[in-house]
Amino acid sequence: MTATAPLTAADYEVVIGLEVHCQLKTNTKMFCSCKNEFGGASNSHVCPVCLGLPGVLPVPNEEAIVKTILTGEMLGCQIATRCKFDRKNYFYPDMPKNYQISQYDEPLCLGGAVTLDLLAYPKDAQKDPATVEDKPIRLVRIHLEEDVAKSFHFDDGTSGIDFNRAGTPLMEIVSEADISTPEEAFAYLSALKQILVYGGVSDADMEKGQMRCDVNISIRPRGQKEFGTKCELKNLNSISGVRRALKYEIARQIDVVLSGGKIEQQTRRWDDDKGETTLMRTKEKAHDYRYFPDPDIQPVRTDRGLYERAQQRLPELPKAKKVRLVQTFGVSSYQAGVLAADAALADYFEKAAAPKPANGAAVANFLLNDFLAMATGDETLPKVAPEFFSELAELSSSGQINSKQAKEVFAQMIATGKSPTALVKELGLAQVSDVGQLEAFCDQAIAANPKSVADFKAGKQNAVNALKGQVMKLSKGTANPQLVGEILVRKLSA
Ligand SMILES: [Zn+2]
Repeated sequence: MTATAPLTAADYEVVIGLEVHCQLKTNTKMFCSCKNEFGGASNSHVCPVCLGLPGVLPVPNEEAIVKTILTGEMLGCQIATRCKFDRKNYFYPDMPKNYQISQYDEPLCLGGAVTLDLLAYPKDAQKDPATVEDKPIRLVRIHLEEDVAKSFHFDDGTSGIDFNRAGTPLMEIVSEADISTPEEAFAYLSALKQILVYGGVSDADMEKGQMRCDVNISIRPRGQKEFGTKCELKNLNSISGVRRALKYEIARQIDVVLSGGKIEQQTRRWDDDKGETTLMRTKEKAHDYRYFPDPDIQPVRTDRGLYERAQQRLPELPKAKKVRLVQTFGVSSYQAGVLAADAALADYFEKAAAPKPANGAAVANFLLNDFLAMATGDETLPKVAPEFFSELAELSSSGQINSKQAKEVFAQMIATGKSPTALVKELGLAQVSDVGQLEAFCDQAIAANPKSVADFKAGKQNAVNALKGQVMKLSKGTANPQLVGEILVRKLSA
């Protein structure tokens, strides 16, 4: 590329960094004993502390600190042995104290990474696992702060504020600008959400506002070291919405520079219905929040029991679970990945496959193919005893029912909740493996199809399949196909 050559869209690369706010699952708020609960009548979970009345003393919530340390441990961060809380000063009605208690220069966690597993990518952008390696997105830091209240704007031009959310614990996870595509941003959020859910730290549901995300995005000519001017996107409330917003914004920025314009530092709002970003405000002078240490809150030492408490709660993470599922149950790496992506589904599978681990792959097939194919709505787990899956896999692999019958039993099992063994009896489905009875069917088929017999004798091995089909028909689908094949070949070769 020379200085004079005109650039095209392909000459630009995209640089994306995400700031994720995540509501922590705790019983009470961050600095008072009000309930931390979604919903409830407006302003019903409030007290002098979270309303910012004078003369109160905030007391940090130990559980929120432990959950933040646990998050840091799951993401490979360095956990500070000492951290402190600071006041971030700003004037806005959603923060009655006129400052937010946050962490400035001594956050709880530093560094770490979120690894982009292939299955975390959007389905239409999943690449061949053999050719792509998992990509780590580095983290800058994770800190703990309090959430703000929620404002409502009514039709008559008035506004109201609900302080139920004010003061609830909020974790901010800041990534390095390591993300290069909208699909990677999608994968980052999916992978992060998965880990937060695994650790029981948060339900991380973006639609419910439990996980909120601000996106910083800029473009620069490939090979250039300095970052381009960045824009910040707000109002993103789903993981797929983040992907759509980024696609739009990348095209917009490239359009601006290719037509000779300059990117202005802006904060833009994403409108998911219209599918576009619109200007909220241009770069205000660098915000001076006048952070200073909160004089009401002692610095926190994590090495006095808090760190140990977080350690004890470390769960088996998706990656380790995937490896173990392959080793223990003989499922494919893909099946293990799909199972491990959903902790509840993986638990269900393990219970289902436990009675006979050797049938694990068959159980996984029933669960991942047959069940998910017929599941409706937001049904994510079968409502039948997990052991039934093992029972069905055993009936099938031992040849007591054939694969067609297994599908029928499966559908009935899900619909009625009855055990596969009971259903096989009830539906009269047991596969016929009685050699005498099968021989009679085979004789009948051979007598009725002289052409197929002649073909087979002339060397056409496939002709046996036509005869096999006849036997299956005669037996109304109950014959053991493998045995039938053996008997036919024996009789025809005699
Ligand atoms: Zn309160």
